[in-house]
Amino acid sequence: MKIRCVCDGLIVDQTDFQRNKAYLVADQDWFDVLDDEEGQGTDHGLLLESSRTMWQCGECGRLYIDDRSGTLHRFDPAETTVPRDLLASARGARWRGNLRGHWWAGAKSGELWWQCGEDDGGWERFTSGEELERRYLEEFRRLLDLDILRSSFLRLDGEMAHRWPPADGH
Ligand SMILES: [Zn+2]
Repeated sequence: MKIRCVCDGLIVDQTDFQRNKAYLVADQDWFDVLDDEEGQGTDHGLLLESSRTMWQCGECGRLYIDDRSGTLHRFDPAETTVPRDLLASARGARWRGNLRGHWWAGAKSGELWWQCGEDDGGWERFTSGEELERRYLEEFRRLLDLDILRSSFLRLDGEMAHRWPPADGH
């Protein structure tokens, strides 16, 4: 989904691990959710049922919050200096993110993408598979050393060429 902010900024929510998105659980539900997670901990039913979504505009810092019926409400900050990362991970610069590499031999085209930590991200395009592989391994080792990597893979023509952490049983 996309939200067009009144400042004309665009809030795009199309992938997981959005740094400008968070979930709200009412204090009235909080202990029920904690108890439920301790008891079952697998399907997160009550957590999903009890949480609502909020987003922050990266341009102006406005908050958009869903009410219980899913209607979006806007909240304007009193100060223009409001942090733009209000909804980002509690781990801050230590947040573990993702690295992805793709190569399509037919098109002689590839790309490398990563988003980790507070602001450690990039998107690069390649016309050489060898160069993509070299850069992928370079970024993989760098992000792993920094301990800000959650998962990583390199696909060459749809085939998994590298994957971390390794899939179970492989
Ligand atoms: Zn805005």
